[in-house]
Amino acid sequence: IVEIQQLRKSYGSNEVLKGIDLQVAPGEVIAIIGKSGSGKSTLLRCINGLEEFQSGALSVDGQPLLHGNAAAMRELRQHVGMIFQSFNLFPHLSVGKNVMLAPGLVKKTDPTAGEAKARQLLVRVGLGEKFDAFPDQLSGGQMQRVAIARALAMAPSVLLCDEITSALDPELVGEVLRVVESLAVEGMTLLMVTHEMSFARKVSNRVIFMHQGRVHEMGPPAELFGRPQTPELQQFLASIT
Ligand code: ATP
Ligand code: MG
Repeated sequence: IVEIQQLRKSYGSNEVLKGIDLQVAPGEVIAIIGKSGSGKSTLLRCINGLEEFQSGALSVDGQPLLHGNAAAMRELRQHVGMIFQSFNLFPHLSVGKNVMLAPGLVKKTDPTAGEAKARQLLVRVGLGEKFDAFPDQLSGGQMQRVAIARALAMAPSVLLCDEITSALDPELVGEVLRVVESLAVEGMTLLMVTHEMSFARKVSNRVIFMHQGRVHEMGPPAELFGRPQTPELQQFLASIT
């Protein structure tokens, strides 16, 4: 579903991604871990077309990502959902409207179908009663679940999650992770940057350890966490426990 070959990305003279190769199969759940500044967010932002890159190739659903081509980029974004640490909801719009704003959900030909779909997605994230509530009436965990519903509204082929529980109070982390876990179980293809190592271990099929702009180690969670091969990963794991 996602194919990345020798992806290189620099900010000025600072090369942040130094030749990333990654193939993601349908239904795969990949956790991305690594120190601050190792390039995790930049990688996700390249995949959904938010960042241009200098060389290499990247395709989603077999469609190569071509930055010069605005129509192709719009098309790409419809296949790639992304959720951030900050929820980015529109404060002046109801929860339902926030979800319905997702591109492609409300078709001019059938506006009521969009509303029905939004209600259904809110039920899926456990917020069936919040359709008419406003974001400032919700907890952080609820807001993040609305953000998940909005991302799902586009029926993305892959969902990118960038530290989506990092801004939450500890007691709200679980409700968001449970929604992500249910998506994983239902077969959603997920790429998630996370600091929740026990969650990564439980839910992912594969873990990627990024270090200085490279995929430094990659493998099944039991191996990566249980038998880290490189001193860099050993140090990283020791530093977070
Ligand atoms: P964190 O765990 O702190 O979120 P990260 O692994 O997500 O870190 P990135 O945000 O991808 O790291 O950043 C990788 C490098 O790119 C860092 O050195 C950062 O300073 C640099 N960088 C990121 N965004 C920009 C930008 N918009 N302009 C210039 N440099 C940037
Ligand atoms: Mg980041």
